[in-house]
Amino acid sequence: MKIQAPKGTKDVLPEESYIWQYVEDKFRQICKLYGYEEVRFPTFEYTELFHRGVGETTDIVQKEMYTFLDKGGRSITLRPEGTASVARLFIEHGFASRSMPQRLYYIISAFRYENTQGGRYREFHQFGIENFGSKSPVTDAEIISLSYNFFASLGLDSIVVNINSIGCPVCRKDYVAKLKEYFQNHIDSLCQTCRQRLDKNPMRILDCKEDSCRLIAKEAPKPIEYLCDECKTHFEALKGYLDAAGVCYKVDLYIVRGLDYYTKTVFEIVDVVADKKLAICGGGRYDNLIEQIGGGSIPGIGFAIGVERLIMLLSQKGLIPQKPQVPQVFIATLGDLAVKKAFEIARDLRSAGISTVIEELSRSLKAQMRYADKMGCEFSVIIGEDEVSKGICKLKNMKTSAEEYVEINKLSEHIKSKI
Ligand code: ATP
Ligand code: MG
Repeated sequence: MKIQAPKGTKDVLPEESYIWQYVEDKFRQICKLYGYEEVRFPTFEYTELFHRGVGETTDIVQKEMYTFLDKGGRSITLRPEGTASVARLFIEHGFASRSMPQRLYYIISAFRYENTQGGRYREFHQFGIENFGSKSPVTDAEIISLSYNFFASLGLDSIVVNINSIGCPVCRKDYVAKLKEYFQNHIDSLCQTCRQRLDKNPMRILDCKEDSCRLIAKEAPKPIEYLCDECKTHFEALKGYLDAAGVCYKVDLYIVRGLDYYTKTVFEIVDVVADKKLAICGGGRYDNLIEQIGGGSIPGIGFAIGVERLIMLLSQKGLIPQKPQVPQVFIATLGDLAVKKAFEIARDLRSAGISTVIEELSRSLKAQMRYADKMGCEFSVIIGEDEVSKGICKLKNMKTSAEEYVEINKLSEHIKSKI
């Protein structure tokens, strides 16, 4: 049997890897501009972390995790997201004693056992940020602005930022009771999953994608109608700060994001592709997360962007930049003396920042030129023993086929002026 990549995973070939580098660079740039620094953490964690940090009632923990016993009998899980790990890192390294807030970002692969249609993978990638130590809506506005401006820096001008508030444990108590009562009265119209959610996580029903549930959810009480004074003030202030930061947003009363630890602000950034809404970023405030996994009472807020979906969106909107030409120069050689000279020339060109390859297969000159042409090189440098002894080389412009002789010691300057 031919071995293939596992279902739900994806190889990234040279034709595409430059796009990944492009979006990663842009993300790193914007993080730096907003004062965020990178953290890296393990691909797997003890399973317990996600049970406590993502929440027992979530889809992730209930059905999507890659969990196994290692050879030492410990239960290990491939990370399904980054927030729980960053919170663990924060506690483990005593970040609470550093100056607040702490601004952290990450670029990770994440693993979820999901159906693989519609831009869903089992190994996918996220850009994420987490801010710890600030309760203030200034922080909510800053991170939403970061993500908004990240998308803007990629040329995505049709994205929509949807925000909502789901309150805190204080206001949620009353609210959840009202919500349960409401859905209980409509239980016959709810899908199987939502019937199960009714008891443990009724808020999730609000963002169920099933038509019947959506119809019922439309008339359901919304978290925003039950906010306590503190949460109400927070949400109003956030809106004011988003205006000040120049972020366009909409209030969407149906976003809940369903994780147990979310409090107050939740948001999603979506775009529309072929009439379908595509979520490319999800985030929210989680003032109880650090406490839930054994740290102090430290507030936090963060988001994660789905990289595969982001690239899909850029491609559908024609926003992918042209692939940079690699290599730019091919050095064709005839004879061993020329091969040795080629190493010297290549070293020169490379130190001038010019991407250069040398013939490695001792082919005929014709075959070498065909190769240079196929690779899309801008120039070929051709040297034989005669050229080596004279200290010159033939330089061929691969687009125009124009040829000229150039002194080897002036070659890199010469090429640089033409590239
Ligand atoms: P959904 O409701 O679409 O399942 P989610 O709430 O599970 O999303 P998050 O955990 O918030 O998603 O992850 C943030 C982003 O990561 C999503 O907006 C999406 O772009 C991306 N993402 C989530 N799951 C996958 C997956 N299986 N494959 C590819 N991208 C994903
Ligand atoms: Mg999901």
